[in-house]
Order: sequence, then C-alpha cells, then structure tokens
Amino acid sequence: MQATDLTGVAKDAVALLGVPWDENSSFLRGPAEAPPVIREAIQSPSANSCVESGLDLNQQTRLVDVGDLDLAGCTNEQAFDRIANATRTIGKRGAKPLSIGGDHAATYPLVKGLADTHPQLTILHFDAHPDLYDELDGNRMSHACPFARILENQLATRLVQVGIRTMNPHQREQADRFGVEVFEMRNWRGVLDVKWNGPVYVSIDLDGLDPAFAPGVSHHEPGGLTTRELLEVLWQVDVPIVGGDVVELNPRRDLNGMTAMVAAKLVKELAACMLAR
Ligand code: MN
Ligand code: MN
Repeated sequence: MQATDLTGVAKDAVALLGVPWDENSSFLRGPAEAPPVIREAIQSPSANSCVESGLDLNQQTRLVDVGDLDLAGCTNEQAFDRIANATRTIGKRGAKPLSIGGDHAATYPLVKGLADTHPQLTILHFDAHPDLYDELDGNRMSHACPFARILENQLATRLVQVGIRTMNPHQREQADRFGVEVFEMRNWRGVLDVKWNGPVYVSIDLDGLDPAFAPGVSHHEPGGLTTRELLEVLWQVDVPIVGGDVVELNPRRDLNGMTAMVAAKLVKELAACMLAR
C-alpha cells in the first residue's frame, strides 16, 4: 500500500509508515535512508516473525505497512506538512501510526498530526538527548528541538524522558519550564518508577541505547541503556499506546546491519504493544 493511500487504513490498525527525511540533522546525514533498511531487517530470514511474547506479527491483519512518505524535492515545511497530514489521517481513521526512519525532527509533525485525535498525549521518550533546545544552529526545527516545539504548542500533556545523559543548563531550564519528567542515566538503577496515564505515544531515538548496542546512529553517546532495559520500560506501559516512532538509525554508520536489527526488534515489540492495548 502506498502512503498516499491512507484512506484505506482500517480502524484499530497499526500503520507502519516510513519517513525518509533528515534535513534537520545537526551533525551527520543518513537517517533518511533508514526506512527500507529497517523493513529489510524486519523481514530478514535470520529471524522469525514472532515477538518475545510469542505473538506472530505475520498473522496480525491489523498490522499494515503503508509504505514511505514521498518527500522527494520537498522543502522542510512541505515535508513537515506531509508528515503531519499522514498521522492526522491515520489517527482520524481510528488507527495508530508507527513511523520508522528519519531523524528525530520528524517527531514534532508526527505528534502534531496525531494530536488532532489525541489531544491529551503522554509521551514516553527514549534518548541520550533531551531534544529540548529552543533552537540549534539557528534551526528551530532541528532534531535537537522537537520536544520544545511539541510542548510549547501543547501537543502533549506529559513528557517522560529515559536514557538522558547530555543535559546542559539551557535544556535543564527548558525541562523545568515545561515540567518534563527526566530520568537521567547518572541516576539510572534499571527500574522506571512511573504511573502511566494514557494515551501514550512512544518515541525511540536509537541513541538512547548505549553505542555498544546501537552503533549505527549519528551521535555516539556512551553510557546508555541496554536493549533489554529499553524493552522492560516499554513493556511496563499498561495503558493504550496510540502512536510511536523509531528514529535516528543512520545506515551509513552501522556495522553489519546490527543497529538495523535492533531497530527492527524495537519496531516489532512496539507494534505488539500497540496491537495489544
Ligand atoms: Mn533525539
Ligand atoms: Mn539522541
């Protein structure tokens, strides 16, 4: 199915949507190339189609791949409009967008579109970085800024950040100003003590993981989460998950497709969580 044909998405479906856009990356390009790489890893004959609970995703008719957004030749503004329109359409149809690829700047339009249907979102955000800059290098749409844009436009009521290890005074100020619940790695003891209120949107920046687990990202930030810890936090969410994204895979930096497989696993497990609740 083509992403332009979102009118065919059924109610309660989880719609896998590729976002090939990395114009707002501050350091390296590459995440725009991630969607087909993640799809290929999901289909890899090296693994089966079950998630850890035993649910076979290939048997789930509610999980549909709607393809990649066509963003070729777009300005940044046009790309953001197309991204927001996609999640708006999916949300209005009573379905759930699960976006793959692109850099983290995409999360602002992804959430913006979904907020039309779900104006009271709680966001669970995995990342090495708070991504709360008011602007970076003069770009307010930078991949370092999406959660500042989301919160100042009141597109979510609560933001919970896990994996953070690059806090600086400006972003600390922003976190205080917006009331962000930041769980920093320096205090991390393996358990997230949070009570969830739904609906939840899950945003996974792969650099929230330690580079030992996910080397294929633009920003190598040592001292991060293990893949297992991320999964345990994800599985703890006991309210409906109505949308999500897995961002910042940079295939140009990956080693033997290792990080692509990590991304694929997280997409599969997140999709299963979205189907279940
Ligand atoms: Mn990020
Ligand atoms: Mn990051």
